[in-house]
Amino acid sequence: MRAVAMENQGSIEMKNPVFFIPVYVSDHIEDIVLKFQKLIEKSRILDVVRKDTTVAVKMHFGEEGNTGYVRPEYVRLLADELIQRGAMPVLSDTNTLYRGRRTNSVDHQQIAYEHGFTEDAVHAQVFIPDDMQPAQVYTVQLNGPYIKQAKIARFFHESDTLVAVTHFKGHIMTGFGGSLKNVGMGCATREGKLAQHSDIAPFVIKQKCVGCGSCLKVCPVKAIDVFPSPECHGLRPWMNNGEERRPTGSTHGAPGSRKAFIDTRKCIGCASCIAACANYNAIEVDWGSGRDTLQERMIEYAQAVLGHKKGRCAFFNFCIKITKECDCLAKDDPRIVEDVGILASVDPVAVDKASFDLVIQKAGKDIFAQVHPDVRGAKHLQYAAARGLGNLEYELQEI
Ligand code: SF4
Ligand code: SF4
Repeated sequence: MRAVAMENQGSIEMKNPVFFIPVYVSDHIEDIVLKFQKLIEKSRILDVVRKDTTVAVKMHFGEEGNTGYVRPEYVRLLADELIQRGAMPVLSDTNTLYRGRRTNSVDHQQIAYEHGFTEDAVHAQVFIPDDMQPAQVYTVQLNGPYIKQAKIARFFHESDTLVAVTHFKGHIMTGFGGSLKNVGMGCATREGKLAQHSDIAPFVIKQKCVGCGSCLKVCPVKAIDVFPSPECHGLRPWMNNGEERRPTGSTHGAPGSRKAFIDTRKCIGCASCIAACANYNAIEVDWGSGRDTLQERMIEYAQAVLGHKKGRCAFFNFCIKITKECDCLAKDDPRIVEDVGILASVDPVAVDKASFDLVIQKAGKDIFAQVHPDVRGAKHLQYAAARGLGNLEYELQEI
């Protein structure tokens, strides 16, 4: 892939090309399929794919009720292009930390099918790694400022090539979400997602807990116990390393009932208990506790996924039906700006920066700052560039 050298204050910076084809709200699905095909052909972005290899196509299949995810018609075209190159595409995503239809592999696969990603329709299998099985988890030694060990789905680590197919949109915690978020958060196991989101262990919402003990059985370090309610009123001081740090939503249980509690001195943040309590939703994450450094942690996770795949990655950003929130939202979120188009690059920083710039240009203002005034997504782009994941400078090539 050609790179463009540019003089910058005495140093040589390399600008990667970002290929772009415009899409309009008036375009029909068939028009967009043809445009996507043209983008693939002209950009030669899939030259990174080798014959007789497995290609992990990093997807987001959309939460139940969501309509923002990249449509199966476009993914089918991509799968066909990969098959033509002699590779085997496998569509994949990891399970979520929050509870919904994508919390476990069986339901997650089912919602993918319901959204049209059946093998018949898209010419590729859907594989949802199960991070409850240790063999499907891979630990990357990273030694980053925030993340020392990254827990990612082994499938993404072991597949020869990674092609990220991303719906570019707003995000409540990262301002916007593009390829970097799709890879950094999206290839992490639940333990990895928890490590990105929260500084403290999950906690039990006493009012919801029925004392069933399911969480006990899955905790690998015996950090959970179930006691009669008077034994576990609220959080004990030692439960948060000596600090009285009561997460929002923590309440007292009814006297006499049995309630679970989590010993945060033992908890290793594997997040297994969250999935185990899916029937009662009584175990919660303090989403706000890691907010200040979430973007940096997410980028270090992206580095963990992409670090050993140099020259074997491609990134497609679909700036179509750009919404305020991400596709984890279980509703039909409306557009916040007119459609922009599809972008492609081998550089995840450049493709996200170009997507951001084009959306802002189309909106005539920083629409993401307007809908999420407390967070700036530029922070994670800059951190990604500083960590060597790509370049903020790019050369836009419109097709
Ligand atoms: S936290 Fe959930 S899984 Fe654990 S005992 Fe309470 S209801 Fe059961
Ligand atoms: S997050 Fe993991 S280690 Fe911590 S309490 Fe839950 S199951 Fe146990």
